[in-house]
Amino acid sequence: MPTFMRTLFLNPPSYAGFDGGAGARYQATREIRSFWYPTWLAQPAALNPNSKLIDAPADGLSLAQVLQMARGFDLCILHTSTPSFDNDVRVAERLRQEYPKMLIGFAGAHVAVLPEESLSASKAIDFVAREEFDYTLREVAEGRPWAEIDGISYRLNGSIVHNRDRALIENMDALPSVVDVYKRDLTIDAYYIGYLKHPYVSLYTGRGCPARCTFCLWPQTVGGHVYRTRSPQSVVSEMAKAKAGFPQVKEFFFDDDTFTADLPRAAEIARGLGKLGITWSCNARANVPYEYLELFKENGLRLLLVGYESGNQQILNNIKKGIRLDIAREFTRNCRKLGIVIHGTFILGLPGETRETMEQTIRFACDLDVDTIQVSLAAAYPGTELYRQASHSGWFKKDELVRNDGTQAATIEYPGLTAGEINDAVARMYARFYFRPAPISRIVWAMAKDSRERKRRLREGSEFLSYLWNRKKGASNGRTPSTTAAAGVRREEEVLAGR
Ligand code: SF4
Repeated sequence: MPTFMRTLFLNPPSYAGFDGGAGARYQATREIRSFWYPTWLAQPAALNPNSKLIDAPADGLSLAQVLQMARGFDLCILHTSTPSFDNDVRVAERLRQEYPKMLIGFAGAHVAVLPEESLSASKAIDFVAREEFDYTLREVAEGRPWAEIDGISYRLNGSIVHNRDRALIENMDALPSVVDVYKRDLTIDAYYIGYLKHPYVSLYTGRGCPARCTFCLWPQTVGGHVYRTRSPQSVVSEMAKAKAGFPQVKEFFFDDDTFTADLPRAAEIARGLGKLGITWSCNARANVPYEYLELFKENGLRLLLVGYESGNQQILNNIKKGIRLDIAREFTRNCRKLGIVIHGTFILGLPGETRETMEQTIRFACDLDVDTIQVSLAAAYPGTELYRQASHSGWFKKDELVRNDGTQAATIEYPGLTAGEINDAVARMYARFYFRPAPISRIVWAMAKDSRERKRRLREGSEFLSYLWNRKKGASNGRTPSTTAAAGVRREEEVLAGR
């Protein structure tokens, strides 16, 4: 057994409530308090017995607290993202000041795509781990010579060196379970997702997505387009362990990009989960056949998170979604018939968007009448086809993906459709969808049935209304509120001051 450096895996403190570092696909402060699990950091932590995982935003930790907790570690890995990168660099610089001998590495999609620029941003970053970084980080922690470690970039004699790429992991069963790390280091009660029962736990049973959606970050940067999976037996035995380890958890979420991409495998897992009596949910495309939906429902499926994206077929074609609107409608009807809850996600501002197509998307969501929705602004991340298109076509209105409160900013606009108009349509879509009798009665009914649910929905309702109000206020005069450099620096100084 090799010896490992004492390693801290850190999801750094950032904007208040920032759901950012290591589990969220689109890093931002959400409409209501939401945190995904930092699974991408928990996995390398599970490969290193001498490690600790800190999820600062979920635990509400300030920078001052994190600095104190980092004492005694030899190596610190920060998970970063494009919207939080500048902030994360400042956190690294404070760590460097406090602990000059600590090795500091960055991981995540942003540094995978921009290793040179990331390293050039600050001398406080000793190396970046590109691609899938689980084994890369283990080898660094084992103290292997850096020249022998695939997938890292670092400074050597004044230049930046990029070692050869790290191959994708083929044997997913060889990865240890993240459940023990969750139990050891995370505050399970701190993790909320509005449409999931609380407390919930999310984890992965595989990585990669065969679809080619042009905006989608992870398959184009870290995960790839082949769905690499753990065996059903291994998943079911991990879930048995998770169920025993977290008796308080009401729902388990499979956060694979598309859990339903391999239906026979998903069915085998579902049968195993059914025997365990587990309530579960997962990401799915809007084309799962009825017989599979039925089997999943019979075996504990409660909710599907479905990316519908747009109510306009041409836009779906433009983004290579590979879904037809009529199929999506039929799928939604089938779920409703079977009593499967749907959280539908939509994006405004995708290529081809006009005022009319935004209206079509709003009407489409209301017609589908899924249980809950999320409306995002199109976000072009470095490394995606959408980013290349937007750069090439001059669609970028501005660079910053989030505003100074950490919520999403409108960054793209088109001839005849401003970023401000796209931004305004988000609040309009939420209002048009939720201020209808059907969603209101669903919420009232859920609150009437359960007092804990009542308390939670009241909190979320007030957060949601304040989100709508701030977005409307900020977007007055059709302008998107921007994360000005001054505001960004102010926020960073607040972070550094530990506020
Ligand atoms: S199906 Fe979902 S996870 Fe897969 S590429 Fe499209 S948006 Fe991404």
